[in-house]
Amino acid sequence: MTTLRLVLGDQLTPEISSLADTDRGRDVVLLCEVAAETGYVPHHKKKIAFILSAMRHFAGELRGAGLEVDHVRLDDPANTGSFAGEVARAVARHGARRVVVTEPGEWRVLADMQDWQSALGIPVEIREDTRFFCSRARFARWAEGRRGLRMEFFYREMRREHGILLDAAGEPAGGAWNFDRENRKPLPAGSQPPRRASFAPDAVTREVIDLVARRFASHFGDLEPFGFAVTRADARRAFDAFLADCLPHFGDHQDAMKTGEPFLWHAVISPYLNVGLLDPRDVVRAAAAAYASGRAKINAVEGFVRQILGWREFVRGIYWLRMPGYGDSNALNATRPLPAFYWTGETRMNCVAQAVAETRANAYAHHIQRLMVTGNFALLAGIAPAEVEAWYLAVYADAFDWVELPNTHGMALFADGGYLASKPYAASGKYIDRMSDYCGACAYDVSRSDGDGSCPFNRLYWDFLMRNAETLSRNPRMAMPYRTLARFTPERRARIRAEAQSFLETLA
Ligand code: FAD
Ligand code: SF4
Repeated sequence: MTTLRLVLGDQLTPEISSLADTDRGRDVVLLCEVAAETGYVPHHKKKIAFILSAMRHFAGELRGAGLEVDHVRLDDPANTGSFAGEVARAVARHGARRVVVTEPGEWRVLADMQDWQSALGIPVEIREDTRFFCSRARFARWAEGRRGLRMEFFYREMRREHGILLDAAGEPAGGAWNFDRENRKPLPAGSQPPRRASFAPDAVTREVIDLVARRFASHFGDLEPFGFAVTRADARRAFDAFLADCLPHFGDHQDAMKTGEPFLWHAVISPYLNVGLLDPRDVVRAAAAAYASGRAKINAVEGFVRQILGWREFVRGIYWLRMPGYGDSNALNATRPLPAFYWTGETRMNCVAQAVAETRANAYAHHIQRLMVTGNFALLAGIAPAEVEAWYLAVYADAFDWVELPNTHGMALFADGGYLASKPYAASGKYIDRMSDYCGACAYDVSRSDGDGSCPFNRLYWDFLMRNAETLSRNPRMAMPYRTLARFTPERRARIRAEAQSFLETLA
């Protein structure tokens, strides 16, 4: 009896649960490139090329290991364009009597999959995705009965449960669970981040690049130069280079931003983790080993581990706990359309222009650019969550619904009313000035909140606090900015509101 084993584009892991009990003489592995996935948002060209090329290399890897692989290409004239259509065709082609698949990372795809069994008339087994530290059921148990879900408590439990960065007594290595206070230093003048690994496209990738250039010419982003790793071996090389060159400095300048330095000391591994070329458990253990052997300090390693064992697992837990419907809330009633400069980068706000230009070039921006520049602007300006979310889902090579939605809807936009984060990540231009060199080269004056030429982030910040006072002023973590606002004269408040309004009216 032939079993058809479907592997999705973000499941490129030989140990994926859908392949666990493959009968090599009989079973067929199906990989399909479908238009429904390449087109549901206008994905960055590099993102499409990365995923298609990684899929094609993975198909080769499985064939090399002796598996029978049926790979349906995007430009196959018979391609129906959907997973359901391609699974039905492959079932007929191979006379399959059963379909096995690992649960997808997107609710939308899971809902579709749940109909396949009745549509196909054969058993369809949807298996758990075991490539995480924390299963969906484990997260639900942790969350049950808690009034607020806070990443920090979840993270500590995960550290204990998986024995990560604990001393011999089972207490946190270095004497504390969190070293974030040491990780907010601006960049000293003249500091030079290392050069990053880049991988020249091979023949498979070149073919994909040509396909993307022809088919997705109107999509956002630069297709070339293309330097992503598309194989497990190269992804590991990129990660090893990070361990050697960047991890020792990871914590210190984690929140810093610098013109012309899109990567700084960040890992740039999220695309590889999210499609399955790297395993988060290997990555976390390798970082912990670097601390144990004295190659990196605790603030660096703990900061890095928290991102993966903490934030990455936490946002996934929240996604599955709250879907469907997590993205439907709009706690701050934000309704403004997404300004065109999110796509063009054409704005006099230098911080936004830099973040969008780097996003266009690399399909990457680091966390602080996403959160405190483009995310912060969308929050302060009251841009409709669904429009912002569609943008984040399109423009980053690592963007998949399970990780993008909680980060955008919950963390950046506070649209879930504080379910994911205890307060909005709202900041004025002062924060951007402290953490970057953007303001010095900007057309606006970061030192002023009102008047001609004053920094829009400043005006919008105070306007945001005034506009949302009813919802936010009772939040104890917002007490300080509201106390500062209370000292503004009524005239100053009115002027800031009017100037913020006239700025918002210029957005198109
Ligand atoms: P590093 O800073 O080096 O961190 C190491 C790893 O930690 C990352 O590779 C990533 O896997 C993990 N990580 C760090 N922060 C987070 C987080 N908040 N949530 C989940 N994982 C985290 N990350 C995605 O993978 N996909 C997304 O679509 C995505 N969308 C985001 C949207 C917004 C508005 C914000 C604020 C953040 C988003 N993030 C997303 C989280 C984070 O910005 C990226 O994971 C990170 O910038 C990837 O770059 P890096 O590999 O250099 O990360
Ligand atoms: Fe951004 Fe304001 Fe600084 Fe300009 S002055 S770079 S708009 S924070």
